[in-house]
Amino acid sequence: MLCSARADNTDMMDEIFIEGLKIYGYHGVYPQEEARWQNFVLSVRLFLSLQQAGLTDDLTKSISYEEVCLFLKEEFNKERHQLIETVAERLAAALFKKYESLCALELRVAKPEAPIAVDFKNVSVCISRKRHIVYLSYGANEGDCPTQIEGGFKRIDEDPCCGVIKKTQPLITTPYGGVAQQDFYNGAAKIWTLYEPHELLKFLHDVEASQGLDRSKKTHWGPRALDLDILFYDDIVLDDEELTIPHPDMGNRDFVMKPLAELAPFYRHPLTKKTVAMMAAAPMEEHIVS
Ligand code: AMP
Repeated sequence: MLCSARADNTDMMDEIFIEGLKIYGYHGVYPQEEARWQNFVLSVRLFLSLQQAGLTDDLTKSISYEEVCLFLKEEFNKERHQLIETVAERLAAALFKKYESLCALELRVAKPEAPIAVDFKNVSVCISRKRHIVYLSYGANEGDCPTQIEGGFKRIDEDPCCGVIKKTQPLITTPYGGVAQQDFYNGAAKIWTLYEPHELLKFLHDVEASQGLDRSKKTHWGPRALDLDILFYDDIVLDDEELTIPHPDMGNRDFVMKPLAELAPFYRHPLTKKTVAMMAAAPMEEHIVS
C-alpha cells in the first residue's frame, strides 16, 4: 500500500526507529580511506502508519526492522562515495523505492573514526526526506509521440528519487494557437518524488531532452517531442521566476483538466479550494487564477 498520510508533520506520525546500526565501510574524501575501512553508524526513523500492523499483529502490514538493517548493510558499500551526505541520500532513496508504505524518513550517518587530526567524539549528517505527491501533465506532437511518452515515464520510474503511480492514456487532440503541426497527445500522471520543486523541474527538463525536446527551438504553441508540466506538488503554493505551482494555466486547458479529473477528482486546488472534478466540469474561463 502506497503511503497515504501527509508527511508534513512527522511529529504526529508513527515511526520505526533503528538506532546505532554499525556498518564497516570505505567512504571518504581521502584516497587512503578506500583501503583503510572504518566504522560508520546509522540511525534511521521510518515514518509510516503502524495502525494496521498493530491491530492485526501482522508483520506484512509494517516494515521489518531486521530486513531494513540487512538491506542498509547490503546497500551501504555498493558504490564508494566521498561524502556521507551522498551515502545518506542514496540510502534514503533506496528505502523509498523498496518500501511503498514509507511516507518520510530521517537518516543519520555518523563517522566516528573520520581521519581528523584533532580529538573528537563523533561527526554525522542527518537528512529528512519525504515522499511528495505530484500531478503532471504531459503532451507531445512531434516524432513518435506514444514512444516518447512511454520513454519519458520509464525514465521517471527508473530514477532513484521518483516513481510513477498512475498515468492516463493519451487523449489525442487537435492543437490550437494557429501554428501548423500534428495532433497532440495529452494526458496526466500521478508520481511520487523526493526532489524539491526546482530539482524536480530540472529533472523533468532532462527527461524531456532525453526524448528529443530541444528547449532552444521551442515556440509557445509550437511542436514538441515531450512536454512535462507540474500541475500540483503536494498542496504547496509557489511562484517565482522559474516555477509557478499550481500550474496557472491548467484550469483553462481541457486537455489537462480531463485527464487530471480521471486521476484525482477529489484533489483540491490549494488556492481556489475547488476540487479537480469541479474545475473540470466548470466553463474554462472560471479557472483563470491571476
Ligand atoms: P513549458 O513550455 O510549458 O514547458 O514551460 C516553460 C517554462 O515554464 C519552464 O522552463 C519553467 O521554468 C516554467 N514553469 C513555470 N511553472 C511551471 C510548472 N508548474 N511546470 C513546468 N514548468 C513551469
